[in-house]
Amino acid sequence: MSTAVLPHDEQLRARFSELKPALTAQAAVIEADRCLNCFDAPCTAACPTHIDVPGFIKRIASGNLRGSALRILDANILGASCARVCPVDVLCEGACVLTRQNRKPIQIGQLQRRAMDAFWASGEAVPVAAPGTHKLRVACIGGGPASLACAAELCRQGARATVIERRELPGGLNTYGVAEYKLRAADSVHEVEMIRRLGVEFRCGLEVDSAAALVALEAEFDFIFLGLGLGAMQRLNIPGEDAEGVMNALELIAAYKTGHLRELHGTVVVVGAGNTAIDAANAARRLGADTVYMLYRRSESDMSAFDFEYEHAKQEGVQFLWRRQPVAIGQGEHGRLILETVQAREADGKIEVIPDSQSAIACDLVVPAIGQSPLTQILQELRGVQARDGKIVADRVTGQTGNPRYYAGGDCVNGGREVVDAVAGGKRAARAMLKEAEVAHA
Ligand SMILES: Cc1cc2nc3c(=O)[nH]c(=O)nc-3n(C[C@H](O)[C@H](O)[C@H](O)COP(=O)(O)OP(=O)(O)OC[C@H]3O[C@@H](n4cnc5c(N)ncnc54)[C@H](O)[C@@H]3O)c2cc1C
Repeated sequence: MSTAVLPHDEQLRARFSELKPALTAQAAVIEADRCLNCFDAPCTAACPTHIDVPGFIKRIASGNLRGSALRILDANILGASCARVCPVDVLCEGACVLTRQNRKPIQIGQLQRRAMDAFWASGEAVPVAAPGTHKLRVACIGGGPASLACAAELCRQGARATVIERRELPGGLNTYGVAEYKLRAADSVHEVEMIRRLGVEFRCGLEVDSAAALVALEAEFDFIFLGLGLGAMQRLNIPGEDAEGVMNALELIAAYKTGHLRELHGTVVVVGAGNTAIDAANAARRLGADTVYMLYRRSESDMSAFDFEYEHAKQEGVQFLWRRQPVAIGQGEHGRLILETVQAREADGKIEVIPDSQSAIACDLVVPAIGQSPLTQILQELRGVQARDGKIVADRVTGQTGNPRYYAGGDCVNGGREVVDAVAGGKRAARAMLKEAEVAHA
């Protein structure tokens, strides 16, 4: 798997230096020793993949890093990326008994990283229960966390899995979307390489975009797993949106992560106030923009970003403009843009524009970040697979869709959550397919 499209220059690495550097070996043991090993492990219950948290932490405390990593990988094959990207405050660490006692929670994410980093450094392959013993063949469409977890689980249980990804590199948003200071694209690809060594086949640069392509896959595979993620970013639908100097948040993030965008200057306006908007705003600051505004038509208390992400953006120097709405993008002097805005207020739960409240911001880049659209195009091709509000309808436990040969998981089912939710969905679907195949052959 070539990582040739990824940047290796030191300048970019320095700009996106890690938000949370790894614990030292000694600090990790001290931290592991603080764990109370709760018998009911609320941290494990709070993890969508149900990692045995006390179990892996106990092994770190006793110096058994390999055993610790294998514990994590049994539950979550993307344990390395989840250690870096999970919003632990609202998951495992938020559920830690110490948090409830107003004490500092165990740094579960950092300890998970310690075990996974040691495992990677050892170069050892993840064990496979019974390689190639199963006749089952599954195509996983999409190369993101949901499909990776599904394919890995299938191969670990002896079945065969092929991941089909339209982009050049696999990993989905782990490679192209998550902020580089949390997870480097190169580390995402490294993790995918570990999954490839389980026997998973990858077909990258291939889009499944028609009914005919699906029919061909049905002939080649027993089941098809849909790990398609969400659709493109939503448009602002204002005049001037297609001007040069307008780049949506996902384009901006993917461009810098792959080294195609190395520097920004002047003033950048990000429109939106979710986690993706914050990632784009922070990236703009780190790429060198002097001033970065986040513009939101509602108030601070309505923003959908996590509190810790909001705090982080303030630390990065991002400035917030509340209750302002863009209405047009025009051309300014010297190639700059003029973002026309109006002041908004809420009345009876609805946003209304305050009369005569126009103002303009001269800027160099406008970044729409108002959410991803639901999937539309491919869903029309999937006969028998129902969709509601652009999300695939699938069984909550098995991931099976209305067409019994199709399963689905991750963002395309849940509408966009976290990496760990996608991993859980992919793993559950793999187990259900294995069970279904066993029943069919009994
Ligand atoms: C900017 C951003 C930052 C984020 N940061 C975090 C974070 O810090 N922590 C966290 O836990 N979560 C984060 N998330 C959410 C997380 O990335 C997603 O929940 C997760 O990646 C979902 O995995 P998935 O496999 O369902 O979809 P994706 O990761 O989107 O993968 C889907 C893949 O399918 C491919 N594909 C789609 N259609 C086709 C087709 N027809 N043929 C072939 N391939 C196709 C796509 O190219 C893509 O690679 C972030 C999301 C965004 C947008």
